[in-house]
Amino acid sequence: MKFISTRNKNIVVSGAQAIAYGISEDGGLFVPAEFPVLRDDDFIKLEEMDYPERAAYVLNKYLDEFSFSELKDMCQKAYSSFDEEGPAPVSKIDDSLYLLELWHGPTCAFKDLALQLLPYLLVESKKKIGLSEETLILVATSGDTGKAALEGFKDVEGTKIMVFYPADGVSNMQRLQMVTQKGGNVKVIGIKGNFDDAQSAVKKVFTDESVIELLKNSGITMSSANSINFGRLAPQIAYYVSSYVDLVSSGEIKKGDKINFVVPTGNFGNILAAYYAFKMGIPINKLIVASNSNKILSDFFNTGEYDIKRQFYKTISPSMDILISSNLERFIFEIVGRDDEKVRELYLNLKENGVFKLDKKLLDESIFLAGWADEEETKEAIASYFDLYDYALDTHTAVAASVHTDYATETGDNTPCVIVSTASPYKFPLDVYNAINGTDKKMDAFKAVNLLEMTIALDAPENIKNLKEQKVIHGDIIEPADIKKKVLEFANVQR
Ligand SMILES: *Cc1c(COP(=O)(O)O)cnc(C)c1O
Repeated sequence: MKFISTRNKNIVVSGAQAIAYGISEDGGLFVPAEFPVLRDDDFIKLEEMDYPERAAYVLNKYLDEFSFSELKDMCQKAYSSFDEEGPAPVSKIDDSLYLLELWHGPTCAFKDLALQLLPYLLVESKKKIGLSEETLILVATSGDTGKAALEGFKDVEGTKIMVFYPADGVSNMQRLQMVTQKGGNVKVIGIKGNFDDAQSAVKKVFTDESVIELLKNSGITMSSANSINFGRLAPQIAYYVSSYVDLVSSGEIKKGDKINFVVPTGNFGNILAAYYAFKMGIPINKLIVASNSNKILSDFFNTGEYDIKRQFYKTISPSMDILISSNLERFIFEIVGRDDEKVRELYLNLKENGVFKLDKKLLDESIFLAGWADEEETKEAIASYFDLYDYALDTHTAVAASVHTDYATETGDNTPCVIVSTASPYKFPLDVYNAINGTDKKMDAFKAVNLLEMTIALDAPENIKNLKEQKVIHGDIIEPADIKKKVLEFANVQR
């Protein structure tokens, strides 16, 4: 399958190139030239497969220059780091209500599903296209991508990885996970500012001709582990397909029945993967976008206007504290009928005026709906799920749960519904503990882990508890403008 840029359909690359380069040179994102469709015989095969095989099968539909057995080998290695529940178990919590738990990996958030696999995909993609240069991975993180990327790429030969996080914009646990990261090829740096500042500054370095040139002379190319990379997106499509197959296999639904997904959203990567699964033929009734107080996406779907000129809030769901949702561009590309000129025009408007507007009819005709939850509603969702179902939601999943409750109450829709659960409650132990108990205590994150463990049925993951003993290795905090200097320093390039 070929891939094209959202901003210029004449830029055509292979899947391996799309993964190795990360982003198109015109600033657009790579999208599949068409969507592969899963037919009945595909479903029959998928039902018989375990998770790594299913993931390889879905990936193979897009990445056909890889063989199924190559992909299967990579997926088996990648997903062996997950706990005994497996990478993407579907947990039934009520009639027609399910949680797709995507946090059983090494860093306890859904980012592991893609980032445990991406290093294998990248290394093999480079081989396929004969790229022997070292790859420097640059990551801007709102909290979870950074750690997941570090765990995926640490000590992977031929790669170096740099992670930039907003110094005051991540949870204590998220920060500790990153600044204690070991590995000979890793660097973690705090940025004064929010995620958007970090993301914009990193994007600027990516397209900075002088940086590209200097690195090239030293035999280094840059790539991205952010969800702008198709190699991040593809593994995410797999769990939507897998969860549907699981619901059919377990007799919860009949093959062909439609289901809803509710997805807590920030950069629009996770829910875009659901949309791609829909495009592949998974029967989806509604895809529900769930925003926190940074409700730019919810506003967009409800008005057609995407306006970043607004207040930025720091919330208890920090991984969704984002105003510039990179992956929305891939959705816009589809909804305007793959009109690359229109995408260019909209994104030029966004760059120059901080806003673009789309005909709302296009959105109303799509399968998307959107809602949002403020901080209080998020906490209420945590408390009520614990009361009703004895289940502890993390702060991000709780945003989705709150939006789902509103949706179900307003519409009475009883379509089977899967809420995508994106992180372990132990990643945000204090906020979850306080929400369950209706308190507002301040305490050390590890004490909160202990108290939470005494409160809920789930044991705390060892990798969270172990953090307490780890040494802080990465203490740098810099201005966004200094990212370029740091990148060249880390790459060991002389100016
Ligand atoms: C990254 C993240 C999200 C948001 O996912 P996007 O793909 O950016 O929309 C939601 N919840 C958690 C826990 C995350 O880490």
